[in-house]
Amino acid sequence: MTKHIFVTGGVASGLGKGITGSSLGRLLKARGLRVTMQKFDPYINVDPGTMNPFEHGEVFVTDDGGETDLDLGHYERFIDEPLTKDSNATTGSIYQAVLAAERHGDYLGKTVQVIPHITDEIKRRIRRLATADTDVVITEVGGTAGDIEILPFLEAIRQMRLDAGRGNVCYVHVTLVPFIGPSGEQKTKPTQHSVTELRSRGIQPDAVVLRSEEPIDTALREKISRLCDVELSGVVNAPDASNLYEIPLILHEEGLDRYVCEILGLSNLEPDLQSWSSLVDRIEGSTSKVRIGIIGKYVSLPDAYMSVVEALRHGGYQHAADIEIEWIQAEDVEGLLAGGRLGHLDGMIIPGGFGERGIEGKIAAAHYARENEIPCLGICLGLQVMVTEFCRNELGLVGANSREFDPTTAHPVVDLMDSQRDVTDMGGTMRLGLYPARLLEGTKAAAMYGEALIYERHRHRYEVNNDYRAPMEEQGLRCSGLSPDGRLVEFIELETHPFWVGTQAHPEFKSRPDRPAPLFQGLVEAALSRAEGRNPKLLESSAESVD
Ligand code: GLN
Repeated sequence: MTKHIFVTGGVASGLGKGITGSSLGRLLKARGLRVTMQKFDPYINVDPGTMNPFEHGEVFVTDDGGETDLDLGHYERFIDEPLTKDSNATTGSIYQAVLAAERHGDYLGKTVQVIPHITDEIKRRIRRLATADTDVVITEVGGTAGDIEILPFLEAIRQMRLDAGRGNVCYVHVTLVPFIGPSGEQKTKPTQHSVTELRSRGIQPDAVVLRSEEPIDTALREKISRLCDVELSGVVNAPDASNLYEIPLILHEEGLDRYVCEILGLSNLEPDLQSWSSLVDRIEGSTSKVRIGIIGKYVSLPDAYMSVVEALRHGGYQHAADIEIEWIQAEDVEGLLAGGRLGHLDGMIIPGGFGERGIEGKIAAAHYARENEIPCLGICLGLQVMVTEFCRNELGLVGANSREFDPTTAHPVVDLMDSQRDVTDMGGTMRLGLYPARLLEGTKAAAMYGEALIYERHRHRYEVNNDYRAPMEEQGLRCSGLSPDGRLVEFIELETHPFWVGTQAHPEFKSRPDRPAPLFQGLVEAALSRAEGRNPKLLESSAESVD
């Protein structure tokens, strides 16, 4: 029988429910359990694919092309299992399914209502993941207890206790214990109120995870235990941690996994956390400083680049490098270059994006990196920008551009493929999800991946225009990876540069803390040699640490 853990949140958003659920998932997986996860989002959009990154952060893409909430990225990085579209449902997608069934006549003339029809659809989504080869499904309910929008989700997960049986369901509630400066105290009242709110919906949490700046003492835990009617061993503290990947170890120290397993009748298993602990040791021992600039449009909201940042850090862990990220607004690049203020970077990333704003700045950054031997990784739009830069400045194609940004350009070096030209519904034209690429022998890409046939996730419409491939290659820009049929350029690299590499894919989505995406690892390695070359002292200290 598959067990269910439901993670809800209270008091404030952004407390790290996703990380808490993911960390618990990792701890259960470390006990040999087969874990999967899902997220319910209370908004009406059918999926986050059409939402502005400024508002919603990154859209995380799954193998099967799902455009999902960024929390799924945390899930995958922590539990190290590929998820699918089925792991994310929004209010919009649930209503869409119910309304389609209603139009189809499936309700046989009945009045369609939130209870039972919407709640049944929510439960169907939960049960769909509870397959024979899954031991535990962890479901995170987005939003905060008390929000109007999450009531159907709370009602559905409440019903699950009876449906699946008491011993098969566990509720974990994540709240905030704020520190109030003037009184010098940590306050339990918001947690009490939040638990009361949850109980008014019929859910008594089995465990509460208390987020706080500083550790919480025993007296406060006892108070919360008493007032919230949660056993003391289910009152768990997760104070702010220096890095995300430490959180599973903190929750384990607090006994959360043991407690949850007791409730679910899984306590005969002991976790093996050795490899995770050594990962955390490695992270904490990362000392060589590397400065990487991320040249983007959404830099005022770093959540928009969540997986890129994580993949970059993973690359750092592998090389014991402490990555210092500099967020650079693409529109500011030309001004920064005029003032000579990009040369201090050890490397740069030009990430994915949509829309024209900042494109010229990204092209200028790619040019500067190429001329000055600064390691540069272009991701999706980043590759398109690199190709444009190269065609303009090395092939002399004045005004070369992507047709996305200049529909009348004389040199559409990046363009829609023929099959997509006449499609008017943009919603149907993205290349989404996992696609294969064949890497050319002897290229940097092949060396980094160590394999000839690789798979990465995609999310874009435009491709490198094949008409420009031969001249680009003649001038030294190699198309180092192609789709197996040879029609699509998947990777490019400059032969004569330490690292000027672009990919049409989004390798950041498959990166794991202990298994960095090869291109990010390659970028960090190249950036480290630039840093060391510029600062011989760094070289000495890294040599000492090797001794
Ligand atoms: N806007 C570009 C395209 O649609 C790149 C998309 C991206 O970077 N994800 O092809």
